[in-house]
Amino acid sequence: MRRVTRPFRSGMPPRWCLAYASPVRIGIFGGTFDPVHVGHLVAAVNVRHALDLDKVLMVVANRPWQKVGERDVTPAADRLALVEAAVAASPGVEASSIEVDRGGDSYTADTVEELGRLEPGAELYLVVGADVAGDLSTWERLDAVRSAVTLVVVNRPGHRSVPLGPGGPLSGWRAVAIEIPALEISSTDLRDRAATGRPLDFLIPEPAIRVIRERGLYALDG
Ligand code: ATP
Ligand code: MG
Repeated sequence: MRRVTRPFRSGMPPRWCLAYASPVRIGIFGGTFDPVHVGHLVAAVNVRHALDLDKVLMVVANRPWQKVGERDVTPAADRLALVEAAVAASPGVEASSIEVDRGGDSYTADTVEELGRLEPGAELYLVVGADVAGDLSTWERLDAVRSAVTLVVVNRPGHRSVPLGPGGPLSGWRAVAIEIPALEISSTDLRDRAATGRPLDFLIPEPAIRVIRERGLYALDG
């Protein structure tokens, strides 16, 4: 691990040490997570490992404006509870309520700005799957996001990889591609499975399945 985790004896690191301390590296992995599944977790854990990030925040969209109107989205508080349950046993992967707390439509530009204020000096890494990477041009205030983050694109089965180089759709971005185990899992399929009584086991972390049952989400009851 890159970080020095041992506490300093005086309680505070000496000044010279602060001057050389490396910035905190934070992954921002946004989604509707309706529901969260192991594809999300595998992406978060592997990006954290590959880029030696201090933490990856799974940022639950309050109101995913691109999905509203297309289908009923599960209440944000329930989706957040699912992510909290799913990450509980994964050190360095955290559920973030930053967009749920802010309320209203969720824009990544606002989230990046707010995290920049909360964690001054941090290096921000915005994690997206290949499907989202191909769709970034539709985002609000894209310039603000582009200048604040390094984009991290993970592969996703069924979606072509997006070229990162000059002349491609992501030219102008600081961007890296991270290869993760390809898991053909989507929340859309999981909602369909739940609705048709097929098993969710091993596709959604067990603690999150418990929350689904306790809360009667996706038409499953206790
Ligand atoms: P839906 O089918 O409802 O769109 P989803 O499975 O795509 O759900 P989202 O919450 O929309 O999940 O996605 C959040 C982020 O996770 C996106 O950046 C998406 O590309 C990424 N992602 C989702 N599933 C996978 C997967 N199986 N492999 C890699 N990335 C994934
Ligand atoms: Mg999606």
